[in-house]
Order: sequence, then C-alpha cells, then structure tokens
Amino acid sequence: MTDPATPAQWRAALRAEGVPFVELDGWTTRGRDAATGKIFGPVHGVLNHHTAGVDSLAVIATMGRPGLPAPLAHALLRKDGVVVLVADGRANHAGLVAKNVFDAIVDEKPLPKQDKSQTVDGNDALYGLEVEGLGDGRDVYPRRQYDTWVRFNAALCRLHSWGSGSVAGHLETSVEGKVDPAGPVEGYGQRGRFALTMAQLRADVAERLAHPASWSPTTEEATTMSPAYVNLGLARSVLLAPGEWTEVQFTQEWTDETGDHPANGAAFVTGPARFTGTLALRFEGLPVGDVVQVRQSEYEGATLTTDHPVDEVIGTAGGTFRAVALTNRLGSGRTMRMRLLNQSSELIEVASAVLKALVWKEA
Ligand SMILES: [Zn+2]
Repeated sequence: MTDPATPAQWRAALRAEGVPFVELDGWTTRGRDAATGKIFGPVHGVLNHHTAGVDSLAVIATMGRPGLPAPLAHALLRKDGVVVLVADGRANHAGLVAKNVFDAIVDEKPLPKQDKSQTVDGNDALYGLEVEGLGDGRDVYPRRQYDTWVRFNAALCRLHSWGSGSVAGHLETSVEGKVDPAGPVEGYGQRGRFALTMAQLRADVAERLAHPASWSPTTEEATTMSPAYVNLGLARSVLLAPGEWTEVQFTQEWTDETGDHPANGAAFVTGPARFTGTLALRFEGLPVGDVVQVRQSEYEGATLTTDHPVDEVIGTAGGTFRAVALTNRLGSGRTMRMRLLNQSSELIEVASAVLKALVWKEA
C-alpha cells in the first residue's frame, strides 16, 4: 500500500514493533498539504536525518528554519530512544531528490550515486525521521536510540509491505550536498561501537523484518546484566517426619526480584537462569550424629525431573545449624525446589530455613 499511514496505523505499527513513542499535540493534523496544495503520498520510503543540534523539537514541529516552514519531519527520535510523533501530513525534510535514486528506492534496488540532472520533490513521497545527534563524528547515538531507529524504519516498512530497500539516508538522496545521517553508534545487538552507515541500518532493518514485529535482537546486556536477589524463609517452624523427602515450602518472602517464587511455594527460581546462594538451616531435635539430607530438585510443572547431589547436615549438641551452598544452572521451563530427608528416627523441627540467592535470568 502507498497511502500514507493514518494516525491509527502509525500507532499500531509503532506499538507492534516495540517503538517507544509520544504524540505531540496536533500531530494528526499537522502537515504542509494545505499550504502547498500538494497532497502527501503516495509514499515510497523512509528518509533518515540527523538533527545536527539538540532540543530540536520546536524547530522541527512548529518553528521551522528560515525559508523552510515546519513541520520538518514526521517524527523526532530523541537520545533516550523515544520517538515524538510530529506530523502525519506533508513535511519539509527531503528537499530535491535525485530521480535516479528515487526510482531505485521505489524499486528497492541498490541506490546509485545521485544524478543531479533530474530531480523529484522527496516531500511528496518520503516519510522523514529526524534523529537527535550532532553529526560531528563525536556525538554518539546511544544503544537504545539506535535500537528504536531500526524499529521505527522496520515498523513503516512492515506496514507498507516494503523491504529494507525502502530505507534511505538524506546523504544518499540529496542533490544539495547533505551529509546526514552520520555518527558513531554505541552498539546494537551483540555489536559494539560502530560508525553509522545506511548500508548497516538497512541490514539491521532487514534482520528485523525477517522476524516478527515483537522480536528483539540478542544483546550482550542480556547475559551480563545484574542479578536479581531472592530471599525467602519460613514464617514458622515446620516438622520433619522421619524417612521421607519433604519440600521446603517458603512461607516467608522478604525479597523476590525475579517474581519466580509463588506465594508460600517451594519453587524459588524458574529457568532459564543461573543462580548462586545459600540455604541456612537450623534444626531442633535432631539427635547428635543423625543426618538430614538436603538437595536441590528440578521440576517441570509438578513433575520431578532431576535430583542434584545431596548435602548432609549432621546433628550436633545444642541444636544443629548448617548453611548449604546453592549453585546451579536451570534450563528453560524448569523450577528448582529444596527438599529435606530426615534420616533419624525422631520427629525433628526445622526451626528456620533462610534462602538467599543471586539469580541471573537467561534469554
Ligand atoms: Zn537531512
């Protein structure tokens, strides 16, 4: 389809693609169509720019520049990765586009060098995105800004059933020597810092379009992010009958940053995750020299799938205390529980059981 996106289509496409956005007052009726007598559309691509300044929203939305009335783009992408919707009508951003490049965008072919002998008005047919950045070669586009940048282009491509060949940069289309967009990018996916090129942006948009709109690229951050803290215990002591495995039901929840511990439940972490921590146990009534076995047991739903090696707590005079180390890796869909086996012939009391763990959730 080549009809420009309606406000409802804009919102739905951006939401589906995971683009954080806000709507500037009046954006749904802002545009240069009436002033120029030229109706925006049919649309054939997305043209990308950098602002070469900071706090450019007022200039882009309403003030314009000398000889260039606003709006100067359809949207502004801020440094914080949030898109501001500015206009859904015709915007003054593209200027004259070399016709040979324009034709290549329409056909989604590799873009040739501009032949300046024939031009078209790019504002008729191209969405304009202004990305906040100085474009001085030093000002960096933060990760989250570039992530949104890719998503924004992909959202419009997906809406119009375009490929990444419909994505272009002002420097590729302009016959007036424009150099935008340019600048270093902090990183994207598992890539570290790199210099922005339109070829790379198109490749990243193409990768997105090969996935559902809800997709997110795998990032280093996903595996190196800070762990969540889990701290569970017993609201009251419990009794342990001899000779049988008993799950520790954690009835006290001080901290559960993963949200994996169900109320009063035995599961304390859900995979995929790695974790490390301790379970500190205090028993009353465990005869001196008798043993309580402690083990981590993996479940899938209610089914026990894997028992991990046991630790032994040996009864000592005057009450028994032991902290058991917990370090493990849990596969997707698995939960971990703690189980105790009272090997004495006495009914003994678990006076306290305090679990503290750091949990790294995996993607
Ligand atoms: Zn530009």
